[in-house]
Formats: sequence, C-alpha cells, structure tokens
Amino acid sequence: MPPALRIGAEEWEYLQERIQTITDALEHQPGDTLKDWEWEIKRLAWSLHDIAQDNELRQKYPSRRDAQRAKLYRAEGAVERRSRLTTVVDQQICLQSVLRQDWFRAWFPELTPDRFVVARAKTQDRSTHDADPATRNHVLSFVDAAPDTTVLHELAHACHYAWYQRRTAPHDANFAGILLWLTVSYLGKAVGRQLAQGYVTAGVKFTHVHQQPGYADARAAAKLTNTP
Ligand SMILES: [Zn+2]
Repeated sequence: MPPALRIGAEEWEYLQERIQTITDALEHQPGDTLKDWEWEIKRLAWSLHDIAQDNELRQKYPSRRDAQRAKLYRAEGAVERRSRLTTVVDQQICLQSVLRQDWFRAWFPELTPDRFVVARAKTQDRSTHDADPATRNHVLSFVDAAPDTTVLHELAHACHYAWYQRRTAPHDANFAGILLWLTVSYLGKAVGRQLAQGYVTAGVKFTHVHQQPGYADARAAAKLTNTP
C-alpha cells in the first residue's frame, strides 16, 4: 500500500487558491474543448479535500464531490414503494427486464445483460454500484427488501458511468435526469411525477436526458453504426 499523502495547511491553501484561479479562468473561456480540463481541475480539488488532515480546513473547503446526494435521497423518499424485491433473484429479474427493453438498448448499447453482476450488499445499510473500468462490468449490490426504485437508482449509476465515466459527481443533475427517465420509462408516468415532485421539493437539480451531452453522443454513435 502507498503511504498516506500528507501536506501542510499552507501548501494546501496555496493549491486551493491555484485551483480556484484556474477554474475561474476556464469559466470565461468559450468552447467545449476546455470541459475536460475543467473536470480535471474539479477532481483535483476534491482530492485535495480528501487528503486534507486538518478538520478546520476540510470544513472551510467542503467537498463538492457529491453535493446533491442527501437531497436526492430525500426526493426518492417521496416515491411510494409499491413493490419490495426481497431476494437477489427478484432484483436480478427486475434489472434484466429493464436491460432488455428496446428503449434502453438503443440508448445504452454497451450496457448489455452480461455486463451486470447482482449481489447481496456486504453491509446491510446501503445498496451500491461499482464499475470496473478494466472489464467494463458493473456490480450492483442490494440490501434486503430493496424496492424496484433502488434497482433503478443503482442502474442509473451504470448509465451515468457509461456516458460520463467519473468526470462528474455521482449524483449530479445528469444523474438525476437519467434516474427520472428510467423511472418514467419503467415504472410509469405517475411514479415519475412523484419523483419529479420530490426533486422540486428537495431542490434537486436535474437535466432532462434529451438535453444531455451523453444523449447527443449516443445518438451520433447509433447513427454511425447504422450507416451501411
Ligand atoms: Zn447513488
């Protein structure tokens, strides 16, 4: 294991200032080519938050990694749980039925059923999604009696990963948009409306899937492969 990285408060402040300066400069530049750099800078800032040893400093510069997570959980709490999937087999069946729908396959051609592993959560407090960049497989782990909305939440992480890898926060506006779209498409408009209302009440920002860069890229790729 590599040794834990420690830096002093002064160096840390200096790095934070440099990152802010670069971020500000990038914000005033036009064009999409700078977006990748912007993401790199953001990721660097989050890393610095993580390695800061001093609690006061950590609070002064809170992590921006996952600002929407708590709000999103609250919004999901507004959705009526109509079915609870009590076993791994039930969760697997629910997942597979979404993966095999035409609309899903058209949008996420690389998320084929064989790329998914469904497992029982190691600790009983949280369902999780893990992507393996090497194999491009996704492991979804569920707690007991996780409802179908949780299956969609973890699947939305796989979709978000397919479009954006790890360049953005896991529960950002694009993620919320994908989750809403999965909910409407699979559980119907009435449940989708409950989730959308939950977003508004909890203050969750979301970007409609049709307006996302990942959607535009997926459409472009589909057109290319369909060209004879
Ligand atoms: Zn999540």
